Amino acid sequence: MKVLVAGAAGFVGSHLCDRLLADGHFVHAVDNFITGQPRNLAHLKGNASFAFTEADVTRPLDLPGPFDIVMNLASPASPRDYMAHPIETLEVGSVGTRNLLEIALRDGAGFLLTSTSECYGDPLEHPQVETYWGNVNPVGPRSCYDESKRFAEAMTMAYHRKHGVRTNIARIFNTYGPRMKLDDGRVVPQFVDQALRNQPMSIYGDGSQTRSFCYVGDLVDGLIRLSASDERYPVNLGNPVEMTILEFAQKIREASGCTSPIEFHPLPQDDPKRRKPDISKAKRLLGWEPRVPLEDGLIETLRYFRELPSKG
Ligand code: NAD
Ligand code: UDP
Repeated sequence: MKVLVAGAAGFVGSHLCDRLLADGHFVHAVDNFITGQPRNLAHLKGNASFAFTEADVTRPLDLPGPFDIVMNLASPASPRDYMAHPIETLEVGSVGTRNLLEIALRDGAGFLLTSTSECYGDPLEHPQVETYWGNVNPVGPRSCYDESKRFAEAMTMAYHRKHGVRTNIARIFNTYGPRMKLDDGRVVPQFVDQALRNQPMSIYGDGSQTRSFCYVGDLVDGLIRLSASDERYPVNLGNPVEMTILEFAQKIREASGCTSPIEFHPLPQDDPKRRKPDISKAKRLLGWEPRVPLEDGLIETLRYFRELPSKG
């Protein structure tokens, strides 16, 4: 198949490109590098099954189709990034998603949207099931991301209902692994960086808030399975093993062998207190569940960050 991957130079997008190429597909990658990194795709230069166009998907796109599947990963994703680019984030979820849906409509292609657990906001239901409508502050600092993704989901459903586009929506929960950006502020690169430099580990709030961390290889497998399915409504993809951020800091200390002290900082506004995916739907429909234990995923992640200087 010929697959269009938007947001390909990002953390998840670059792993998805690798998997699609390994499965024998042709990949046309697009990115404007607002938060992505050229080095994430550098190893694909010269691959005859891979093409790259530097473009902003919110602008008119002239890409050589026809495509069989359009995969939309384009969006700043870390709180630091989307708060630094709130208008671009709203634009890429709305105009960008629509432009990519138009390509899918033009080519009769499938369309995959990478949405997010942030659609549930600071959830009042736990764990989060796809039928939960969420608790989002529409005017808070995270709203540029949450509402952008909720709009993108609504736009995707509209193209399915109005035009019959074969759409899929993944609600992705916290994912980690090699190729995260060292300075994107997300908790995994932040703690790993601090651990490797033996600096204090910055816990926001008292560290009792919870998250569930999925290794990127598991997530990519879920995305591939979902894009081959007939399910039009959102499907949670994430690891249901939940832990507090304080426990997570301890896991990083153990995995890295560092002796960094813990340092407490103010909790950012609207930081979700608890998050854990209910993945019954993904298990039932896709036969999918995460396979990589946190300890193994952290070894791979630490190896990547340790070798980073040599990667330039
Ligand atoms: P990332 O920031 O590493 O990658 C996003 C990529 O999109 C970047 O390369 C960026 O340059 C590109 N991009 C942004 N705006 C663009 C535009 N207008 N035109 C072209 N390219 C553009 O983030 P990620 O962690 O790889 O996330 C990928 C997708 O998965 C995002 O849509 C994100 O919302 C979603 N997601 C990720 C997570 C996670 O834990 N990583 C969780 C939930 C949802
Ligand atoms: N966090 C933290 N210290 C950091 C970075 C993040 O304690 O240096 C916390 C953050 O407040 C949140 C959790 O870790 O509760 C996950 O943050 P991240 O930015 O990775 O993703 P989020 O799930 O908030 O989108």
